[in-house]
Amino acid sequence: MSLNEVRVSVLSLQSCQSDIRTGMDILTDVAMDLAEAREEGVHTGIKEMEVMILECAKLDREIDYFVDIVDQVTSAARAQQPEALVNLSATVKEQFTERIAQLSDADLHNHSKVMAFKDSIKTSFNQANEESAENMEELDEDIAVTQSQVNFTCPLTQVEMVNPMKNKKCNHHYEEPAILDLIKRRHSQNKKCRCPVVGCGNANVRESDLILDQVLRRRIQSQKRQNSHT
Ligand SMILES: [Zn+2]
Repeated sequence: MSLNEVRVSVLSLQSCQSDIRTGMDILTDVAMDLAEAREEGVHTGIKEMEVMILECAKLDREIDYFVDIVDQVTSAARAQQPEALVNLSATVKEQFTERIAQLSDADLHNHSKVMAFKDSIKTSFNQANEESAENMEELDEDIAVTQSQVNFTCPLTQVEMVNPMKNKKCNHHYEEPAILDLIKRRHSQNKKCRCPVVGCGNANVRESDLILDQVLRRRIQSQKRQNSHT
């Protein structure tokens, strides 16, 4: 191998290295998206990406050392007789192995791109946390509004429902026996049963439209308990 060939090889190795560094930037971008998305398994995903970026950092560092050693060995060879070139690759290999053996994986965490990766993810998580805190506040307000909107009183009995049934068509609630009784009476008169809620356009309430609303039932019960305590 001529010194010129060595030069070309080193240059192509350095272009690989620049690809590796671009890859590290992309990994960081994807990890940030992941952190912001806060989806399930996000921590496992980021952990896996950290392993990948550390692998890249290791490669990047090894290329640095390798190129450095090749430079030293070739410039030393240039000063000597052409015969020195024979042992060039063996010398590089020997020195490289020796140098790499002294390196620690812990140092990889100080690689500038690994540090940028960690820092970016921390920022993304913090941002996502702030946003989600805001979302939670909005959600709480929404729940408060819907809770006040849902009437616990049955439009038929005018008392608080015990077994509320929800009409899947118009979303109104009625006490179970009261609405079933009304439907039966109307149907026995060969008439349709109109939704008893004032202003509701649902002119045909059928038993098959009704479903027991367990969520509302629990909510009424828990409010009842709270009221009895205060
Ligand atoms: Zn209705």
